[in-house]
Amino acid sequence: MDQATVSRSKHGEDASKEVRAQHAEKQSPLELFNSPEANAFRAEIIRTGRKLWDRQYVDGNGGNISVRLGAEFVLCTPTMLSKADLETADICLSDLSGKILAGDRTLTSELLLHLEIYKANSKAKAVVHCHPPYATAFAMTGTVPPNGLVPEYEVFIGPAAVAPYETPGTQAFAETVLPFVHVHNAILLKNHGLVCWSDTVTHAEWLCEIMDTYCKTYLIAKQIGQPLGVIPDDKIDDILRRKQWMGLPDARMARIGGDPRGADPKNTSEIVELVKRVTGRREGRS
Ligand SMILES: [Zn+2]
Repeated sequence: MDQATVSRSKHGEDASKEVRAQHAEKQSPLELFNSPEANAFRAEIIRTGRKLWDRQYVDGNGGNISVRLGAEFVLCTPTMLSKADLETADICLSDLSGKILAGDRTLTSELLLHLEIYKANSKAKAVVHCHPPYATAFAMTGTVPPNGLVPEYEVFIGPAAVAPYETPGTQAFAETVLPFVHVHNAILLKNHGLVCWSDTVTHAEWLCEIMDTYCKTYLIAKQIGQPLGVIPDDKIDDILRRKQWMGLPDARMARIGGDPRGADPKNTSEIVELVKRVTGRREGRS
């Protein structure tokens, strides 16, 4: 496998992913659980758990991480384990109804939240739920930070949503995100925390970082006591066009005639070619 292929696989941008997923559908749950793809996902989940803990987004046994495996299964973190201490054998296999199929540990009841997201939105390939302090502070107030202040937040998240409070771990709690999950990839859970979905576990964790840092920066900026500068609408439209190209959801997409759910990128082959060119250039190839 050349470096460009490694790089694409690592970042979940490999065009052959869909082919692999189709092949995966024909395998039994146990074959899938023991496949190289599952091993790679387990390693990614463990790395991500460590990041969440290092960033103080999860305390005690809080937070959970999952990823789709084939069309019908999910690899996920278990209950009662710190995200800093995850090991390969701790990762469980579940079907989309929450039935455990492999793994020695007990599933987290918050997996129900992940499963509702997967069932509602086929674009969600990985879900990360955590309790980052600044985002959770906004969740306590039932408000989202205002938009138009930092481009990175606008590109990767845009308008966030707040799902109403329900008792964690229940089916009612899991369903609170359903009205938001097509148009928002970052959802604050009232009086609880944050859940983000994306195409890979790594990217879902990036969204948690972007959300929490944005909430923190906004609160600091407010303390300066000066009016906040706002990105002009026409520049936000530039960002929306970029998001459309990347296939990201944004509730404001109708402004530029786009799909708020984030249409599939029309130019996947163009993106793959771009990655090839960039990674080739880094290695000194033309
Ligand atoms: Zn939680």
